[in-house]
Amino acid sequence: MSITFAELGLSADLVAALKTAGFETPTPIQAKAIPPQLANRDIMGIAQTGSGKTAAFALPILSRIIALGTKRRPKTARALILAPTRELAVQIEDTIKLLSRGAHVSTALVLGGVSRFSQVKRIAPGVDFLVATPGRLTDLVREKDIDLSDTTWLVLDEADRMLDMGFINDVRRIAKGTHPGR
Ligand code: AMP
Repeated sequence: MSITFAELGLSADLVAALKTAGFETPTPIQAKAIPPQLANRDIMGIAQTGSGKTAAFALPILSRIIALGTKRRPKTARALILAPTRELAVQIEDTIKLLSRGAHVSTALVLGGVSRFSQVKRIAPGVDFLVATPGRLTDLVREKDIDLSDTTWLVLDEADRMLDMGFINDVRRIAKGTHPGR
């Protein structure tokens, strides 16, 4: 028999919510990546598209955020997920919304090429998950519309592609502003 989400260490409430979302059994990358993250370790994962990578990084963060309760400071994000493209960022936010349905968890998107007004407004009260492309996020940090000092989780999705696209300096600067491991 394959391992269950409960055996990976996720809470009963989260396991029940996953079942409702149609997630019954962890995929291989989820089975490998979730336990070390729940133990607060940094991980690097490689898996094909469609293998469930998004939930592999989102579930451990979600589980910790739910346990910590709703404590957000204005203009901050508790978890930051960087993605190379707008399309990927939108998909990631959709998956996080699906996984967190029913929990008091907020998400926001920061993307280039669209008006920043609604993005800034959404972040203003503080959010749990911020999914962003590096260029626009760098602009908002510079303009002090977002403060990364409360950001305890940092995920680089498709990191290889992000670096290929020349985002290395933005990613470095952003990572320096976060506060991992608290
Ligand atoms: P991803 O590789 O993260 O883009 O996920 C691919 C698709 O598989 C998405 O539609 C997810 O919602 C879905 N998915 C991920 N993990 C599971 C799972 N354990 N059980 C069922 N569906 C899943």
